[in-house]
Amino acid sequence: MVKIAQILVAAGTGARFRGDTPKQYSALGGKTVLRRTLDNLQDALPQTRAFVIVHADGDEWLKSALDGFDGAIITVPGGATRCLSVRAGMATLEDLEPDYVFIHDAARPFVNAGVMAELTETLSTKQAAVPVLPVVDAVKEFKGEELGADLARGEMRRVQTPQAFRYPDIWPFYRSMDERADYADDIAVARKAGLSIGTVDGDERTFKITFPEDLDKARRLLGRNTYIATGAGFDVHRIEPGSSLWLCGVEIKAGFSLKGHSDADVGLHALADAIYGALAEGDIGDHFPPTDPKWKGTESYVFLSHAKERVLARGGQLQHIDVTLICEKPKVKPHRQAMRERISSLLELPINRVSVKATTTEKLGFTGRGEGIAAQASATIELTDEG
Ligand code: MG
Repeated sequence: MVKIAQILVAAGTGARFRGDTPKQYSALGGKTVLRRTLDNLQDALPQTRAFVIVHADGDEWLKSALDGFDGAIITVPGGATRCLSVRAGMATLEDLEPDYVFIHDAARPFVNAGVMAELTETLSTKQAAVPVLPVVDAVKEFKGEELGADLARGEMRRVQTPQAFRYPDIWPFYRSMDERADYADDIAVARKAGLSIGTVDGDERTFKITFPEDLDKARRLLGRNTYIATGAGFDVHRIEPGSSLWLCGVEIKAGFSLKGHSDADVGLHALADAIYGALAEGDIGDHFPPTDPKWKGTESYVFLSHAKERVLARGGQLQHIDVTLICEKPKVKPHRQAMRERISSLLELPINRVSVKATTTEKLGFTGRGEGIAAQASATIELTDEG
């Protein structure tokens, strides 16, 4: 039986995708994209002897993404270009001496087992094999801002991964490759090396997750339902003697302070709780127990940043937030824009999706008597069913 190895290229840190998480680590139906791709590759070719994951240097997500995977895994940091990354991956296979090596993008989770079988079959007569798709739309030259001549789309194909190679034929070429060489993909390397190349029909579902909307498309393909969750938060802090207080991340010299275990920013507390509420992940007290002395004096942006990280970890997208501060004083209006800007920056949410407003209680109740300040908030988040 032929010995097969598969290389998964996951070295891209990419342009900013959603927050700071590289796209291969975005959540896709309860797994990271990378893990879903890996599991699908294993299902498609269960006889694979080893999987090589070529990752970015300093990758802090990989370990947990691979947790519990039961195949043989080799991990190796990639290089400056895709070519050099693939070369680093292939170098780890010298001892295994596989007959075939499949090279696949980590950001293409929907692997088609039928396509993989055809690639394998093709390698019995060719040195390399690649899935291709027709070009459906008209294709034109584009120079600067100007449309140019029509290109003959009938003579064109789109090229996907996995791309498959006879390892003993492709590896020597990668090993001796110039450090500065840059090829669009691995089949371009095979072509340059003069290998014989066969093509098989690709699968539109094996698209590459490139933009945030591609992740939504992937979730729809999985049959995952997207929904809008709204969370509510409420908080109160007692007024005490002092010189200034924090409200929605802005320090106000009010001639008094708010009492609290942290910096007592009642606005950010209500807002963090609203986000936790939309996620159904408890409240600030669960994540930062007030009984734990290490949170004493914590600046409240820490809570809000944690709540934002939880949204990203759930694959969610904050849509809108609204905070209402309830007090007779200080006057909120002069600080409102600064508050919106601070929250917008902390949550990486456009400022037109950040509302801060204020009201009094007509001198009634504890806020009316100036004994405390209350805040309520709502957070609207787009989420996807997991599982
Ligand atoms: Mg509080």
